[in-house]
Amino acid sequence: MDSLLPLNLPSSPLLPSRIVVAGPCSAESREGMLACAEAMAACGVIGAVRAGAWKPRTRPGSFEGYGAPALDWIRRAALAARVPSGTEVATPEHVREAAAAGIDFLWIGARTSANPFAMQELADAIAEICPDKGVLVKNPLNPDIELWVGALQRLYMAGVRRLGAIHRGFSVYNSHPYRNAPLWQIPLQLHRRYPHLPLLHDPSHTGGSRELIAPLSQAALDLGFDGLMIECHTAPDEAMSDGGQQITPTELASILSSLHVRTGREAGEQLDALRLQIDELDNELLMLLSRRMHLTDSIGECKKLNDMPVLQPERYRRLLSLLLERGPEYDLNTEFLKHLLELVHEESVRRQLAIINKL
Ligand code: PEP
Ligand code: MN
Repeated sequence: MDSLLPLNLPSSPLLPSRIVVAGPCSAESREGMLACAEAMAACGVIGAVRAGAWKPRTRPGSFEGYGAPALDWIRRAALAARVPSGTEVATPEHVREAAAAGIDFLWIGARTSANPFAMQELADAIAEICPDKGVLVKNPLNPDIELWVGALQRLYMAGVRRLGAIHRGFSVYNSHPYRNAPLWQIPLQLHRRYPHLPLLHDPSHTGGSRELIAPLSQAALDLGFDGLMIECHTAPDEAMSDGGQQITPTELASILSSLHVRTGREAGEQLDALRLQIDELDNELLMLLSRRMHLTDSIGECKKLNDMPVLQPERYRRLLSLLLERGPEYDLNTEFLKHLLELVHEESVRRQLAIINKL
């Protein structure tokens, strides 16, 4: 994905240089949509207007959106606020209808980006009907970066070049206190792989509650995300979907003005000197790891000679608990240390297995 085009989504007056897409979970009426967009524009919070016309609901029987008629409400509301409009599409028919209604950008939801067949159909439809529209891809429900990358690649390979990604958390067992666990390492990995791909955070669907919107948004900005998608409703408690995580335009304005965007680029000599030390330490770490692995290999030879099994669980348990006990002394987080030592041990076992099986 090396030749992406700009998404063309303006930043929010209250959050300079960051994209803010906001609006209700679903478009509930022409008047409601207009009132929300006008109130958001009056508070200076947007950006771009979002609302769902087709709502993917977990269980049947709940409100599933007003469908195609809602598209015109969304477009007119955004037009009145003088910003672009966007909606979620999940089928080629949605793409056709959204394009015909003049919706400016599209997003693909978490349930759809998890399905390669649906993604391919959507990618082909967008490429055929409206290849120049901006398309934002939410992370799939499951914490699988390859699935997310795959969804983006299907669009790119079909010829859609105005792409962006939205991190909305992952559906995992026990994500408390979040509705969806943030697992920040996954969007950060995506950012490392595709530094030019705009990356937004959706604190509404990640947190699932109003109180979590501000801290999650700040965390995303601290990590260098390019913007936010936030659900906003003039009367959240009466919303037809996702009421508990929606906030009013005034609340949104107050949250956005409380956020701090770190814009520093050059930290000067002090940072350079610290980075130099880190580079040296990383080199030392590599050398130490290499020495440790070579010792491991010699132990493997000994085990082979003495016909011993590679795994010596008792010794490993003793070693691990001794080192973990000393972690706090060195200001090292126990979970981190455990993870690291397990990795090193797994690699040692892999090398020794190769040695004892060598003829
Ligand atoms: C939404 O943005 O309204 C939505 C349904 O989100 P997600 O696909 O992240 O659940
Ligand atoms: Mn929602």
